[in-house]
This record gives sequence, C-alpha cells and structure tokens, in this order.
Amino acid sequence: MPESAYIHIPFCVRKCAYCDFLSFADEKSHACIDAYIDAVCREIEITPKWFPAEEQKERQLETIYFGGGTPSLLTPSQAGRILSALRETFGIADGCEITLEANPGTIDSAKLSAFREEGINRLSMGIQSLDDNVLRTLGRIHDAEAAKKAVKAAGLAGFTNISCDMMLGIPGQTMDSIRKTLDFFLQKEIPHISLYSLILEEGTPLYARLGGDIEKYVTQEQDREMYHYVTSRLAGKGYVHYEISNMAVPGYESRHNSMYWRAEPYFAFGVGAHYYLGKERGRHAETLDAYIAALRVTDVKKEDVLITEEILSPEDRMKEYMMLGFRTRAGVGEEAFLERFGMTVESAFGAEIGKEMNAGLVGFEDGIYRLTEKGFDLANQVFMDYI
Ligand code: SF4
Repeated sequence: MPESAYIHIPFCVRKCAYCDFLSFADEKSHACIDAYIDAVCREIEITPKWFPAEEQKERQLETIYFGGGTPSLLTPSQAGRILSALRETFGIADGCEITLEANPGTIDSAKLSAFREEGINRLSMGIQSLDDNVLRTLGRIHDAEAAKKAVKAAGLAGFTNISCDMMLGIPGQTMDSIRKTLDFFLQKEIPHISLYSLILEEGTPLYARLGGDIEKYVTQEQDREMYHYVTSRLAGKGYVHYEISNMAVPGYESRHNSMYWRAEPYFAFGVGAHYYLGKERGRHAETLDAYIAALRVTDVKKEDVLITEEILSPEDRMKEYMMLGFRTRAGVGEEAFLERFGMTVESAFGAEIGKEMNAGLVGFEDGIYRLTEKGFDLANQVFMDYI
C-alpha cells in the first residue's frame, strides 16, 4: 500500500505564458471548486475498494503533496476537508510531510497560518525570479514585491520548511538578476531551492511569441552557465545537490519527491493526476466535468475515473528505477536493486553501465552507482540508455 498521496488542484488565477500544465483559469471552472473537492474526497474514500486486499496493509501516509495548478487558491478549510478524507481512509502518520504549492500572488500570512492549522507543514513557493521583467515575460501574476511579501508571510505564519522555485534560461534574464534572486533566498535562509530551465512548450503564448526557438534567445551554454552559477553558490553555502533540479540544506530534502525518485508507489487524486501503483501506472479523467460526474454517481466505476496507461513489465520497472536513481546523489544501490528485482545491476545493465563508466558519466563506490559531476551535467545522455 502506498505511503504517499498526490492531490492535483487544477485551478489558476490566470494561465502563465509558458504553462502547459493541466489547470483552468476560467470563471466557470472556478465555480466548480467545491464540487471538485467533494469529488476528490469521494475518490479518496473509494480508492481502497479498487485495489486488491493484500495490498492494503496497515500503513499510514508519510507524505502528502498538493500540486497544481495553484493549490494555494483553495481556502484552508477546503484543503482541510481533503486532509480529513485522507486521514479517515488511510491514516496520516505523525510527522507526515504535507506540502502545499503556493503561488505568491494568492497568499498572505493569515491564510498561510490557517493552512498550517489544517496540517500543511511545508510550502513550495513558485517564486521563479525576483526580476519584474522576467516575471512579465513569464506572465506570472506576481511581481518581485509580491514574491518578497509572500516569503515574509510564510515566515510570519511559522513555516520553516520552505522551498522556492527558481527558473533559469528565460529570455532577457541576466546573471545579475539571477544573482539578486539568489541573494534574497540566501538572506532569507530558504532551505530548499528547485531549479528549472524554461522549456518552450508548443501551443503556449510564449512559444508563439518567441517563434518556438528558445536558442535564439538563450543558448544551451548560457543556460548551463546560469545553472552552474546557482548550484555552485548554493553548494558553497552548504546546500546539497541531492537531485538534478533540487538543492537543500541537509534535512530539508523533499521527502515526497524523494519517494518518486526511489520509484515507490503512490496514490494520486484529482483531474489528470498520474498515479503509480508498482505494476500499474495511469492517469485520471482530464476534464472537470468528466471527473466530477464520474464521482457523483452512487456506484462509481473505476474505469470512469482512472485510465490505466501501462502495466509495467519487470524490465520497464528496472529501467525506470535506474533512470530515477541516477537523477539523485543517492544513486542506485547494488543491494537495493538486487532486493527489489532479484538480479544484480551488472546482470541487468552491464553493457550500459560499462559504456557510461568508460565515458566518465557514472561512478561506482561503496556498492552505489551514481552519476559523476560530468554525468550530472550530461544526464540526458545517460537517461537515453534506459528509455
Ligand atoms: S501558476 Fe503554475 S500551473 Fe498555474 S498557469 Fe502558472 S505555471 Fe501554470
């Protein structure tokens, strides 16, 4: 039985210019928020019926993650209703990490205090940058001032486990603006930073505006330079680069995301949310109407809510385990692999590992295969071996 749950909150104030996530910013969708919370709670309550009894061991949730969209658009009591449903259905372990993604344009200290009272104990804040020009390019709803206020509000509300997103490789972004954003994070002692490079997704307004070619504005080299500047400065301040896109003060690593990288099973609830139950992977109905309607009937049908996408073969699972493990500093442990799959890494992927080690991309030490510094930089080359 999974010990983690992801809840998708697919509502945003306005669509950002680069965003192709499943989220709705129109009034009609926002009018459904309460009905959506009802549907999510119903799905949580029904879930134990859909999975074989032998999988339902007595375990409680160790991590819960509200992602979006903009989960901070919810009222604290709406988030509280979902947490109550999770508690009643699965149980929530003492010390469970409960993260809420928060958009700086939607929060103040009173609202954040109320979220804390509901049980949220970690915030992931979509700051991205503290440069107003960059934020305008991205079409974010907040400016630098609002972002600073949001960080202050999080502290006033008593949050200490805070992550801030920082986006790199944005047209018009300068090293000076990156330096200033990072200065602020360090000054505020934000213990966890997630780094993302802008990806131009087809169909977004930014894609159209830039003619679909990010390289014309930010080259790979410039993007890498930004990434190295940030990672080396954070490393110098004691942050551990524990995953390709994430750095944390020791003890503040995301437990929920680390669960993904260990390829552990997790529940997911809500429109479009992807779930992974060891051998089965799938997603949810992708329209609000379909999702809410499917969960309103007396006899809810699994196939109206969950769309099974893949039954994973042992080989699929081994490849995925390698790829996810290589994303992290923890790497892929020989013993853990043997215990999970009943064979050694060497016998499953000897040829691939040999090639990667010869190229200096992967190292082996104390029974652990992990990417070298060079490999962290060229990780996609390694991942290609496991697709
Ligand atoms: S806040 Fe996040 S999910 Fe919402 S539109 Fe912006 S990038 Fe997309």
